Amino acid sequence: MPEKMSDQVNLERVIEEFEMMTRDAGQVQQETLRRILEENRDAEYLLSLGLGGRTDYQSFKAHVPIVTHGDLEHHIQRIADGDPSPILTGKPITIISLSSGTTQGKPKYVPFNEELLDSTMQIYRTSFAFRNRKYPIGSGKALQFVYSSKQFKTKGGLNAGTATTNVFRSSQYKSTMMALQSQCCSPDEVIFGPDFHQSLYCHLLCGLLFRDEVQFISSTFAHSIVHAFRTFEQVWEELCNDIRTGVLTGRITVPSIRAAVSKLLKPDPQHADLIRDKCTQLVNWYGLIPRLFPNAKYVYGIMTGSMEPYLAKMRHYAGDLPLMSADYGSSEGWIGANVNPSLPPEEASFAVLPNIGYFEFIPLRENSDGVELPPVGLIDVKVGEEYEILITNFAGLYRYRLGDVVKVVGFHNSTPELRFICRRNLLLTINIDKNTEKDLQLAVETAARVLTEEKLEVVDFTSHVDLTTDPGHYVIFWEINGEPSADTLRECCSVLDRSFADAGYVSSRKVNAIGALELRVVRKGTFQLILDHYLGLGAAVSQFKTPRCIGPKNGKVLQILSSNVVSSCFSSAF
Ligand code: AMP
Repeated sequence: MPEKMSDQVNLERVIEEFEMMTRDAGQVQQETLRRILEENRDAEYLLSLGLGGRTDYQSFKAHVPIVTHGDLEHHIQRIADGDPSPILTGKPITIISLSSGTTQGKPKYVPFNEELLDSTMQIYRTSFAFRNRKYPIGSGKALQFVYSSKQFKTKGGLNAGTATTNVFRSSQYKSTMMALQSQCCSPDEVIFGPDFHQSLYCHLLCGLLFRDEVQFISSTFAHSIVHAFRTFEQVWEELCNDIRTGVLTGRITVPSIRAAVSKLLKPDPQHADLIRDKCTQLVNWYGLIPRLFPNAKYVYGIMTGSMEPYLAKMRHYAGDLPLMSADYGSSEGWIGANVNPSLPPEEASFAVLPNIGYFEFIPLRENSDGVELPPVGLIDVKVGEEYEILITNFAGLYRYRLGDVVKVVGFHNSTPELRFICRRNLLLTINIDKNTEKDLQLAVETAARVLTEEKLEVVDFTSHVDLTTDPGHYVIFWEINGEPSADTLRECCSVLDRSFADAGYVSSRKVNAIGALELRVVRKGTFQLILDHYLGLGAAVSQFKTPRCIGPKNGKVLQILSSNVVSSCFSSAF
C-alpha cells in the first residue's frame, strides 16, 4: 500500500493534463478520430464503406452511416464466433463485453479491448483526482460492493463477461485501485464469487472487520449500495455473531469464499458488542453508514439517471456524509467524468474526455418537417439543448447510437458538461402519448410523497402497458416497505395518473382513449426476485438497473410481478 498518493499517481498532474486536453477539445477530437481511423483503416467494415484510408471528419461523415447495435450485430457475432479477420478493427478483438441488458431486455455483445480498459483507468484517475482535491481520503480501504459476473467463452473461444467484469479481472484495475487508495476491503474470492448473496454478506462482514480503515463506500451503481444496506438491516445480528465467535455463518457455503473470509475472522466479542450498540442506538437506521464507518469521507457510485429513485434511501443511510455521483459510461465505452464532485447528484454533470473516443450529438429538437437533425460535433453543442450521443471508439464502433439522451449544462474549458437525462426509447406509449423513463420517475416521485404521510416509502418500481383492456392503460408496479391504507393507495394512484404531464397522455385520458392508470402493489421482496432472475441470465449486480418498463416480450418478469400482486386500484383522476 503506498504511503502517500503521490508515490503512485500525481493527481495534480492528472488534473493539469485534463485541463490542457479540454482547453483544445476540438483539436483533440480531430486527432482522436484520425487515430481511430488510422488504426482501423484495414477493417473490413470501413473498407466496405469506401473510406479508403481517409481520416478526416468530412470523409468520415460522408461514408460512414449512423448505426444502432442491430446494424452491427452480425459483424460482432462473426467476431464472437471466432472469425480472426479484421472485421470492425484492424487488430482482432479478443474480448467481448456483455451489456447489462436491463435497459434493452436482453444482453448485447459489444467489443472490448485494451484501449477501452485504458480509457476506464483514465476516467477513474481523472474523477478521483478532482474528488480527492475536494475530499481527500487517508490511506485505508474502500468498502466496495463490487461483483464480477461469470466469464464464459463464446462459440469462437473469446472471453466474454460484463464490461465491469472485464475491468475487475484486469491487472490494470488492481494496480490503479491501489494507486488511488481505493483497495477493496474484501478479498478477491468475494468479488469473484459465484453466488451474489454470499458475496454481498461477506462484503458487509469485511467492511465491519475493517470498519476504522474504511475511507469511502462505493459501488458502480447506487442501487447496489442501497441493496447492501437494506440487506444489512436483515443480517446485522448474524454478522455480529460471526465477529463475536470468529466463525463464519453456515450460510457461506462456497469453499473459496469461506476459506478467504474465515482467514480474516477471529473471535472478537468486544467489537461485536460495539457494533450491536451502534445498530440498536440508530433510529430507523438513519445515518447507518457514518455510524459504522467513522472515517468514511463520502459515498460514491453512479447516482444519476435510473439511479435517482434510490437517492432518498441513500441519503437516509449516509446521514451527513456527502453523496458523490460517479462517471458516465457504458459497455460501449466511457464518455465523461464528474469533475465537480461537490455538486449534489441531482445536479451532477460529466465533462467529456475528448481523447477517449469521437463524439457526435444528434439534436433532439426536430426541424420543422419532423425530420431528425444532423449530428453536431463535440464543441458545437449548445448549452440548454438535449442530444442523443453517437460514439466512435477504438473498439470498432463507428457513429453508434448509444440510445441515451443528455443535456448540455455548461462547458469545462471547451469540452461540454453533460447531464444524463434518460434513455431515448419511450417507455410508455399507447397512442399519441410519449412518456420516457424520466417522466415515469418524476410521476413516481410525486405520488410517493403521499405515502410519506404514513411514513412509508417505495422500495422499487416498474411499469407496463396493458393492451389487453380496451382502451389500453398504464400499469405501475410498486413495492412498498409496509402496508398503506386503501385510501392512501387510491390517492397515490390518482396522483400518478395526473403526474404524467405529456399533452398526448392527458388528452387521451380525457377522452378515454387511454384507460385509467392502474397501481399494483407487489409483495416485499418481489424486486429481489427480479434481480435474481437477471442474475440467472448472466447479468452482473454491478451493472444492474431495474427495468423501468416491462414489455410483452419480457414474459418472465411480468409473471414474477403478476404473481406477487397483493393489491391494486385504478385512478379516478380523470
Ligand atoms: P450498460 O448497458 O450496463 O453498459 O449500461 C450503460 C448505460 O447505463 C448507459 O448507456 C446509460 O444509460 C446508463 N448510465 C451509465 N452511466 C450513467 C450515469 N453516470 N448516469 C446515468 N446513467 C448512466
